[in-house]
Amino acid sequence: MQYRINSLKNKRRTLFGTFSLFLITLASAQNIQNNPQSNHGNKFEQLGTILPTPNEYRTASGAPGAKYWQQRADYDIDVKLDEKNLSVIGTETVTYHNNAPEALNYLWLQLDENQHDPKNEVNYFDENKVAEPLTQAGLKSLETKTNLEGLGDKIDAVTDESGKALKYTVNGSMMRIDLPKALASKAKFKFVVKWHYKMINRMEYGGRGGYEYFPEDGNYLFTLTQWYPRMCVYSDFHGWQNKQFTGRGEFALAFGNFKVKMTVPADHLVCSTGECQNYAQVLTPAQLQRLQQAQTAKEPVEIQLLEDAKNAEKIKSTATKTWIFKADSVRDFAWGSSRKYIWDAMAVQCEGKKVMCMSFYGKEAYGLYRKYSTKVVAHTIKTYSKFTIAYPYPVAQSIEAANGMEYPMICFNFGRTEKDGTYTEGSKNGMILVIIHEVGHNFFPMIINSDERQWSWMDEGLNTFVQYLTEREFDAGYPSQRGPAYKITDYMRLPKNQLEPIMTNSENIMNFGANAYGKPATALNILRETVMGRELFDFAFKQYCTRWAFKHPEPADFFRTMEDASAVDLDWFWRGWFYDIDPVDISIDTVKAWSVNKGEKIAVKMDTVYTYPKLKEAEYITTIRNRESGLRSLVDIDTTLRDFYYHYKPEPVIIKELKNKNENLEEMPDSSFAKYNGKYIYEIKFSNKGGLVSPLIIQFNYTDGSSEIERISAYVWRKNEKEVTKTFLRSKKVASIQIDPYRETADINEKNNTWNIKTEPGKFELFRAKTGAAARGQSMGENPMQKARKK
Ligand SMILES: [Zn+2]
Repeated sequence: MQYRINSLKNKRRTLFGTFSLFLITLASAQNIQNNPQSNHGNKFEQLGTILPTPNEYRTASGAPGAKYWQQRADYDIDVKLDEKNLSVIGTETVTYHNNAPEALNYLWLQLDENQHDPKNEVNYFDENKVAEPLTQAGLKSLETKTNLEGLGDKIDAVTDESGKALKYTVNGSMMRIDLPKALASKAKFKFVVKWHYKMINRMEYGGRGGYEYFPEDGNYLFTLTQWYPRMCVYSDFHGWQNKQFTGRGEFALAFGNFKVKMTVPADHLVCSTGECQNYAQVLTPAQLQRLQQAQTAKEPVEIQLLEDAKNAEKIKSTATKTWIFKADSVRDFAWGSSRKYIWDAMAVQCEGKKVMCMSFYGKEAYGLYRKYSTKVVAHTIKTYSKFTIAYPYPVAQSIEAANGMEYPMICFNFGRTEKDGTYTEGSKNGMILVIIHEVGHNFFPMIINSDERQWSWMDEGLNTFVQYLTEREFDAGYPSQRGPAYKITDYMRLPKNQLEPIMTNSENIMNFGANAYGKPATALNILRETVMGRELFDFAFKQYCTRWAFKHPEPADFFRTMEDASAVDLDWFWRGWFYDIDPVDISIDTVKAWSVNKGEKIAVKMDTVYTYPKLKEAEYITTIRNRESGLRSLVDIDTTLRDFYYHYKPEPVIIKELKNKNENLEEMPDSSFAKYNGKYIYEIKFSNKGGLVSPLIIQFNYTDGSSEIERISAYVWRKNEKEVTKTFLRSKKVASIQIDPYRETADINEKNNTWNIKTEPGKFELFRAKTGAAARGQSMGENPMQKARKK
């Protein structure tokens, strides 16, 4: 499906080469699209055949159809974490339910640990060059393959329920089990897989799961992710999703119920997807009592104390304990285990349901996580529930593991303090960002279960968008990195050979952060604030989430639902923002002005000095509208979340008052329209220099110091996609005009956005200096998510 657009274009090109005479007579939009001289391309034509044909499984409205079906897999797993040998040994019984209308001859499973198996080519096809000067790290990366010898999943047995061996074939990260007889529609099949693998040092070699070693105290943090052979998705739109796992394109998984028994060192704490079934056996009476307290506490309660964790680090038990967890209706299961963990918890009410919010972290993160983590978890599930669907699970957790990766009910995040327990504002903001983001993934893709291997934007983009809304509601002064339109312009103005559409398969994306996270999040923000308005957008977005909760949505289901529920034709928007790479660059080319004044010539003074209109550069449009709607952020309400940085106010950057030269107004030649006397006419010519059609947001700044904003839909471009002239009647004299004053359209060139405003040298730099910094803080600098090898 990812090749749909390209192949369509290629086909057209070939057709034009061969049958141009025939086709030229067809006055279709497709013809015009290929004529660069035309003012009317196909930017506003319906998506038509670009989207898959609706059927009884997926309707044209974007909802699941009457015969929608999906597969299901239940797991019963016994697993041992061998700390001494740094390995995992497991036995799983999988019950696979075939809900497809057809029979299946074989099943595909994912062996994700084979990502690290040096025999596999999965990590060998990326371009690499000799970095000069040659470094140790550079050389090390070349010998990676030999260093990883012995890693990857070792399959010990694959049998049916009765223990009879089943034939299986491993191809890279995928394993096919051949069924003894075809699995009929509506039937189920039970089988057993025994496997083991050596864990990877993920701090050294990367990867989502593995161990981190702490030489100071000689202990490990273990993260168990993609750790068991997992069923691939078999679907109505794709058949088996068995595209190889290379470490980049994430996962496609079926829902099911899990029961997992983990045997770990006796002094470890286990944090996991699901609810623990035997706390009474694995916790101390004091821990149990504090866990009880957390059920009704107003503030997070420390269940494993800092002191107790420090003691456990020294003793290092060699005995073992078995923890039992259960989770229903989840698409995956992950867990962490360590004696380093401190553990806090607090039950919160979320849409009328009690959710246990919890955090686990080593002493290295105590200064940040103890204060913020559990509260940010609670804030995230509450805010996402408002914009998507009510959080359905009984638990939500944030685990510090120096990375960022999500699973149902549990995620692994970063954010450690300095040795003395202090932290920079950048560390704090990075931690808040990653916790919101990873907890937010519970909704996309853990519940609204899209195919990540195919489309990164459907989980990362949608999630980053709601993450942005959640950041705004956490703290109105929070310096959001992705979401505000103007923050994507550096990416959008890259040369065309460095860009690709959002609708690009995950594996093929060059600029992953901007394309899979930033651009789709920005597009949705523009859709909400600028194109559709909050009311229509929020209803339609919720509709999409409700329709596809616990199901497998595809891009067309999203595009169609957003229109179906709002009565806004958005095909132009999906074309421009999701299927194309053009940026927004709208320019004010000329302004003609007249005064209407019967029988009297009015002289319009030249060289008038006007105050430079105050640009709204420091505040996001979302923040302004949140404030206007009376919304209070969490730090406004919960004063315990304020710290030094909350009170720290940097010097404001003042943009200089500029002296503008006003042009002469021309008089209307025959002004015989008495009622229009004293009014002004402004005819403005705009051109679309970027290619991406966009609404016009025009701010008229009047000579009396007041100003007014006109908002005109992107349809203004539908008959001429390159230039458009609009004329306005005003009662006051206009001193200057500025388009996109709230910087909400992602216009890549702001120099052509004004009329009669002098741009002083350095203004743009001032602009950037101020917007890079929070209203009350310094810049976060480099994106900490990228720094921590964000997945
Ligand atoms: Zn993510």
